[in-house]
Amino acid sequence: MKIDIVTIFPDFFRGPLDHGIIRRAREASLATIEVHDLRAFAHDRHKTVDDRPFGGGEGMVLKPEPIFECIEALNVASREERDDAGQSVVLLSAQGKRFDQSVANELAGLKRIVLICGRYEGVDERVGQYLADRELSIGDYVLSGGELGAAVIVDCVTRLIPGAVGNQASTQQESFTTFSQAQAGDGPSSTCTSGGLLDYPHYTRPADFRGMGVPEVLASGNHVEIRRWRRRTALEKTLRNRPDLLDEAALSDEDRKLLAQIAGKNL
Ligand code: SAH
Repeated sequence: MKIDIVTIFPDFFRGPLDHGIIRRAREASLATIEVHDLRAFAHDRHKTVDDRPFGGGEGMVLKPEPIFECIEALNVASREERDDAGQSVVLLSAQGKRFDQSVANELAGLKRIVLICGRYEGVDERVGQYLADRELSIGDYVLSGGELGAAVIVDCVTRLIPGAVGNQASTQQESFTTFSQAQAGDGPSSTCTSGGLLDYPHYTRPADFRGMGVPEVLASGNHVEIRRWRRRTALEKTLRNRPDLLDEAALSDEDRKLLAQIAGKNL
């Protein structure tokens, strides 16, 4: 996959792209990531990329010309042909659709994504209207720039590229991953996809840490029991921290019984 990032702070990405899974994916050429300095596409002496907002008001707005010119220089498919070409040009924006694991999965299936990072009061609206094919927000809060959002998207998407994570099955058993997103894996029978729930709790050695133990069932070797315990604790955690996920989650009759028990216990 090819990922291009357009920013006025290219140095921002030194670091976030140089560690762990992203670094390995780049070294293995599973992902090619290029960072482009928007100022290189400004033509005046001061490399101006922003201007005052029409209609008045606070702050500055990123101008359309450098952004359009930069994307044109990248030879991205036109908006009409982008879908068929497996490409997407994304504008990072607090006003965008919420980025989540299902969007990450969708993007991971593309050949090329371009991430445009806004700054100041935002980006001239024509970039979102005519150049980008989607606006994405990483959450309901306002960042000072799109760079952190772009780094979040690159991280989530890269680890979903087949081969990027040593054991691919592990990316299918995590929080938020629905059954349809997970392909049939051949992992041990004690693990399961989250089915859109939060992940179950994980423990490692030592079994006794300063008097804090590990649930005995996990050392029992009984995969059926372990699986049941993991499902129950995933349901418990989801009910406690993210009950909204339960509306969309794939729940079995047994899950519903467990939920009723858990809810009863908490009354
Ligand atoms: N005036 C805008 C905020 C601009 S913040 C508003 O109220 O919606 C400057 C830039 O930071 C934006 O152009 C965008 O690229 C980025 N940004 C801010 N919050 C973001 C979020 N939640 N997700 C993704 N990008 C965000």
